[in-house]
Order: sequence, then C-alpha cells, then structure tokens
Amino acid sequence: MCLRVGKHGGKIKRKIGNINGEDVFCSPIFTKELDENEQKHISTIVKAIVDTQAYIDDENTNPGYVLLLKKPDIDFYQKAVTKIVAIDVAKKFLNDQQALFEGYKNGRGLIGATAAISWEPRDRTFELISYRSKQHWGTKRQIDLKSVQQMDTNCPSTFDNYDARNHHNRIVPNSPCPILYGIRGNDAEELVIASTQVNSEPVESWLLFETNQGTDNHLQKKQIAHIHPFESVITEGSVVVNPFTIQGGHVLFTIKDTTGTISCAAYEPTKEFRKIVRELYIGDNIVVYGGVREHPLTINLEKFEVKHLTTNMVKTENPVCPICKKHMKSKGTKKGYKCIKCGETSVYPTIQEKPRTIIKGFYEVPVCARRHLSKPLKRMNQETQSDTASFNENQMTRHIESS
Ligand code: ZN
Repeated sequence: MCLRVGKHGGKIKRKIGNINGEDVFCSPIFTKELDENEQKHISTIVKAIVDTQAYIDDENTNPGYVLLLKKPDIDFYQKAVTKIVAIDVAKKFLNDQQALFEGYKNGRGLIGATAAISWEPRDRTFELISYRSKQHWGTKRQIDLKSVQQMDTNCPSTFDNYDARNHHNRIVPNSPCPILYGIRGNDAEELVIASTQVNSEPVESWLLFETNQGTDNHLQKKQIAHIHPFESVITEGSVVVNPFTIQGGHVLFTIKDTTGTISCAAYEPTKEFRKIVRELYIGDNIVVYGGVREHPLTINLEKFEVKHLTTNMVKTENPVCPICKKHMKSKGTKKGYKCIKCGETSVYPTIQEKPRTIIKGFYEVPVCARRHLSKPLKRMNQETQSDTASFNENQMTRHIESS
C-alpha cells in the first residue's frame, strides 16, 4: 500500500473515505513537496504505527515501510509483479534511492511497499475497503448475502463480488483481519454507491484505494521455450495432447508452438471451468493465461482464448453397401469392411464431422477461483487509462498486489 503526501494541496479535493466519523479527502495537486526533515518526521510516525498495529506474530505477516522523496521509475514495479525479487536486491535499490525504510521479520514487505511507490498505472481499478469496529474483530462478519448479490447486479462496473454457482461471497476476506469487505470495480464513484447497497454490521471506517487488481499486470507474453517456473505468462499454441482428468479432478492437456511444448492445467478448485477445458481437442489453436508451476512445468490456467477450432472427424458407423444398402461388417482392426450379402468391400468407415460444443472466444475461471491480479473477462477491452480519468490518481491511496 502506498500513500503520497505533500503540502499545500489545492482547493480541489475529493472525498475518498471516512475514518471514525471523519471524512478523508485527497488533493490532485501539491504546491510543495516534502524535504528530508519532513521525510524523517513522517518515518517516525509510520514506524510507531507499524510497531503498535502490525500483527507480527502472524506467520504470513512480514511488514515493511519505505519513504522516498522521489518516485522511482516503473521498473521495480514491473519486476516485483512479474518475477520474484530477492530481498537483498530490494534493499540495495532502496539504499541507492536514499530511502528511509525498515523491514520486519523476513523483510519482504519492503518489496511490496517499493513496488507500490514505483507503480505507474496504465490500467487500474479501485477497491473500496470497509473496516469493522474493534469489538467485532475475530467474530463472524454480519453481511446480508442477498444484498451483495443485488449490489453485484445493480453496479455493473464492479467485479468479482459474488459467485452464484459456487456460493462464494468474494467481497469478504477469510482472515480474522479488521476488514469487513472490499468491493472492486472500474469506477470509484460507483463503488461508493455499491457499498451503500451492502447490508452489514456497522461500518466503522471506509477508504477508496487505487489498485492493480484485475489488470493482468502479472502476465508476460512468452514463447513456450522461454517460460520459467513462478512466472505468469500469456502464450499461444496448438493442442497436442487432448485434455484428460487425473486423480483429484484436475484436468491437464498439452500445447505446442514452434519453440516447444508445455502442459496446461485446470485444477479442481476451478470447478465448472474444467468442463470447458475438456472440450478442447488436438489441433485447436488457443492463447493461455496463467501462472507457471515448477514441478512439473505447468501453466495453471486463469483463462484462455480459443482462436481456431479444428474440424474433428470421427467414425460414426460402418459403411453402407452401395448395392444392398445395408451396413457392412468389419473384417477386423484396419482390415476394412465387407458386405455379408454380396461380398462388396470398403476400406473406410463412414466419417462425419463431430459438432464442437465449444466456440471461439475467451473462457475464464469462476469468481471463486480468481486470482486478485487476473483481469476478469468483463474488464477486457475496457481498461481504465489513467490519463482519461477524472482525477489524478497519483495522490490516491494505493493498494497493490505482487506476484
Ligand atoms: Zn451388399
């Protein structure tokens, strides 16, 4: 998460939240950047907050904070979102930038913090996060599911709210954290409307974040031979091994391009998505999107696009005798067919084109199995360009996901 701070913001301000009854605004312009003394002063405030508020005991919590006077270019973000960045590399980068920083435990929080600062959104979304009052932390969240479904229908610019088929309420986190819910969408204003439609326990505070969720920022276009473990890729190929199901309900198939072959998988948690994957056939040309697993090297499908469907010819029946109009009998495997009445023979059975049940286009995993960074199909071709946005995103609170 990243916050940009400055002084003497202009008169134009925009409400982006409310914390304990007090409205929070951001300003699109600062007339004064901060100096090193102010950077030091802010770092003591940040340190005090992290020291008292972070759940250090949680094994998945590795906080870190970074204060930079100048925004670095986007390279660090690109690396962090597409690859694994070593902590030493991040620390060296921060020292080179004269950053004030501290990493706790394994220090990996520094990587996310630095990536958030260096992000320049080419596509971005928003998330409205609402928070619970302290007395409710750790207890079951009181949220009316019907109102979430209704909000999902009423607010078309939001996404990944609810998975009707798998009964999964995606706006609610699983952890016992202070977050009540997070609604993601393309339009910050509609998120505010959306949150008023969710019936829940009292919301103590809420804040709008600019995010890279749902942008596919983690994906890189690659040819198969250049794909490495732990990357997330977009690659095009043709199916060379038909989909088959293994124990546990996972569906696997193989694609190839001019450089090599690779396995693709739709794992059990992707539910009904596997049914579509099973419809693929040798010769189909597809573009796959997903993260790469190491052993065995496999693309874990997030979505795919069918570009070309092969014609699938199948034997439908034994050939019909042209004289007697009766079906011939097989003489054995690959030995052809013979009419038992008149002795007429034929080499080939009747072949027909098997109708395909899949059509060209995009297919994605259901909401319940979606990764935070995966771009939902409803966002395809409607990327939000930050330069056309109604307000400068740079001053907004950022919440970014890394790979
Ligand atoms: Zn015959």
